[in-house]
Amino acid sequence: MERKQYKLLGYNIDLFDMQSALNYAKSLIDGANSSHIVTINPEIIDYANKHEEYAKILKEAEMVIPDGIGIKIGLQVNGIRVQRLTGIEFARLLIDDAAKNNIPVALVGAKPNVIEKVQKCLKEDFPDLNIVYAHDGYFKDNSEIFEGLKLSCPKILFVAMGAPKQEEFIYELKSILPSTLMIGIGGSFDVWAGEVQRAPKIWQKLGLEWLYRTIKQPERFKRIFPTLPIFVYNVIKERLTKKG
Ligand code: UDP
Repeated sequence: MERKQYKLLGYNIDLFDMQSALNYAKSLIDGANSSHIVTINPEIIDYANKHEEYAKILKEAEMVIPDGIGIKIGLQVNGIRVQRLTGIEFARLLIDDAAKNNIPVALVGAKPNVIEKVQKCLKEDFPDLNIVYAHDGYFKDNSEIFEGLKLSCPKILFVAMGAPKQEEFIYELKSILPSTLMIGIGGSFDVWAGEVQRAPKIWQKLGLEWLYRTIKQPERFKRIFPTLPIFVYNVIKERLTKKG
């Protein structure tokens, strides 16, 4: 299946709609090697610009989906309209598909009580889901988790430890696990476990979920500002340079 991408500030972003993204991800599960789906946003790009090794991880990812509203704006500045594909919604589609097709999944991330709760909630919503491994995201030694994952052989791994930790964790695992699809999904387990509420639909539709989350968790403010306005400024600058 063909990948349609756009390079924004040096990072390739896949321009799939929901269905073709799912089809592409499924084709990766059948691949010979493990693969990494990054849900990219302006904070991730900002961090990558300051950390070369992390930039390499993003550039080597098999699929990069535009998660944040910032990326959507960035693409729009360049005349590209995309259906915003949030990591949490995309992961839910993957879970649904995995349950229907008996694809074994693993979950790593969030606090111990949350990872317990999320398994229960997912089993309620998807009784056929085959969770072969689950671990919280607060561990000192990666090797114990790597060993557990190797033994349980998941085909899809959801890592919810926030950026940049989750991408670094997945990158290390790529050479350890055979043909596993891995995706970093930030705080999704907290939402699935009912610990954190997503913004009401209308805020999501208006692209203001980030504002809702910042109001609810004011400590997020320093993550978004000044990153988001600087990102938009850089995108406009890149656009004008390309035109000129
Ligand atoms: N987390 C984790 N291990 C850590 C640090 C964080 O598992 O060492 C979890 C944390 O409990 C939360 C998630 O990672 O569930 C990060 O959520 P956040 O809302 O910050 O992520 P975002 O969605 O903004 O990327």
